[in-house]
Amino acid sequence: MVVLLTWMVVLGGRLLAKILIVDDTKLMREKLNQIINKNNHEVAGEADNGNKAIQLYRELKPDLVTMDITMPEMSGLEATKVIRGEFPDARIIMCSAMGQHKIIVEAIEAGAKDFILKPFDDCQVIEAINRALKS
Ligand SMILES: [Mg+2]
Repeated sequence: MVVLLTWMVVLGGRLLAKILIVDDTKLMREKLNQIINKNNHEVAGEADNGNKAIQLYRELKPDLVTMDITMPEMSGLEATKVIRGEFPDARIIMCSAMGQHKIIVEAIEAGAKDFILKPFDDCQVIEAINRALKS
């Protein structure tokens, strides 16, 4: 049974990734945690501001980051610029309730691969994650 499941995972081309969750709201981190685990990816760590996100990125070298924008101490936009400056291949998905065109453009310019508008549903998150992993 285990062997069969492993084959299915391989044959299905599923990419299992270590993901860093960055959001200052505990409830949002819990929701993302659930979505990630349910889809067989792994939560590498969690941060609640941009500074901690940078520190954890350096320590954990995750395959992907979900990044909130509005956070205390340092915003997700600033943290994304720093992380992408150090790690040009970093895959960062912005996840924010601020969906103004200007903010989305800023996020992409900072180096984000995708932008998910809150409130989101599970499918949107997992599709964005899988899309970014293939890039
Ligand atoms: Mg926030």
